[in-house]
Amino acid sequence: MTHLMNTYNRLPIAFTHGKGARLFDEHGNEYLDALAGIAVNGLGHAHPRLVAALTDQIGRLIHTSNVYRVREQEALADRICALSGMQEVFFANSGAEANEAALKLVRFLGHQRGIEAQTIVMERAWHGRTLATLAATGSAKARQGFEPFPTGFICVPYNDIGAVTRAIDADSRVLAVWVEVLQGEGGIYVADVDYVKALRRLCDERRLLLMIDEVQSGIGRTGKWFAHQWAGIKPDVMTLAKGLGSGVPIGACVAAGPAAGVFGPGNHGTTFGGGPLAMRAGIETLDIIESEGLMANAVAQGERIVNGLKRGLQGVGGIVQIRGKGLMIGIELDRPCSHLVRQALAAGLLINVTHDSVLRLLPPLILSAEDADLIVHRLAPLIIAFLRPHSASGLGATAKAA
Ligand code: PLP
Repeated sequence: MTHLMNTYNRLPIAFTHGKGARLFDEHGNEYLDALAGIAVNGLGHAHPRLVAALTDQIGRLIHTSNVYRVREQEALADRICALSGMQEVFFANSGAEANEAALKLVRFLGHQRGIEAQTIVMERAWHGRTLATLAATGSAKARQGFEPFPTGFICVPYNDIGAVTRAIDADSRVLAVWVEVLQGEGGIYVADVDYVKALRRLCDERRLLLMIDEVQSGIGRTGKWFAHQWAGIKPDVMTLAKGLGSGVPIGACVAAGPAAGVFGPGNHGTTFGGGPLAMRAGIETLDIIESEGLMANAVAQGERIVNGLKRGLQGVGGIVQIRGKGLMIGIELDRPCSHLVRQALAAGLLINVTHDSVLRLLPPLILSAEDADLIVHRLAPLIIAFLRPHSASGLGATAKAA
């Protein structure tokens, strides 16, 4: 028993250190990390350049306050705006906090325009665990028991432009459309490029804000800095977190066009957000991703894993779909499969399951081709054995079955 609140069903393992795509537990066992702290450790563990930069920063300055100028904050905001083509950034400490800033921005703009702004959100969306972000989140399980929620959200089916149009037509107070272009927690669903483009057009026509939650899909994970860049569009509001700090807590709400310049002094704030340590982590993370070509690597290794799994699992009944983009990969089975997480752990592989039946792989962007193959080699036999409890497991068995 510990004195921790019982908010997680934790696996019986604790890690002492990591190196690259490997983690080591208290007993010296080695694991291949195909989860990267749920899309956080894009650079893997203990990346030498990140360690050096953070060590230097800790030795100089960890925290001052947002009542002063923070040069590292200005530098990271410049960098994010250059990469996204957007205008201004508010830094927070997590994805949910970045999203809260985005939601407050919409409401504040609504009041300036004389309406109580409504935001269209998507089924299966995941935006965080604060009350407002939970209100916008599609998961009934996560929401249950936390009513009453803040109002102002209209939920529509994902990837359905007609549903968004109808919701806008039905309520003149709609001011924003909020979407993950690749749903992570919801089960690794990739929106069609045409849908994302149509959302942009619709928001332009109706003077609405297009808000994109890139907390999980951003920072190179899909092979572009931000997943919406695959559709060649720009949002008015974008939120970031996870991979941006490589493990140092961080969140960012980025604004452009009609969403820029909405807040003035005193409208929003944070004690810790934008502190020098997190900012340095962000700057170094972006530098490393760029100079080491990690986005191209994400595409290459993502394809390698997906192709390897498709080959290894060909003809196996019970696989609904293998999908994703870059190193954000889901393997949907026709039944709940959280059991496989423990089996993978026993096989030296760290993965997780989302939406009950979707195995999720979010390996670090530094993944080598050998480790991409190793993920397939360790995972495919487990899936086969899980789906066919009485058949022999192993890639050989799969090939025969196929
Ligand atoms: N938005 C998305 C798309 C996420 O995937 C998550 C977390 O999984 C969040 C927001 C919430 O981020 P955090 O857990 O840092 O509050």
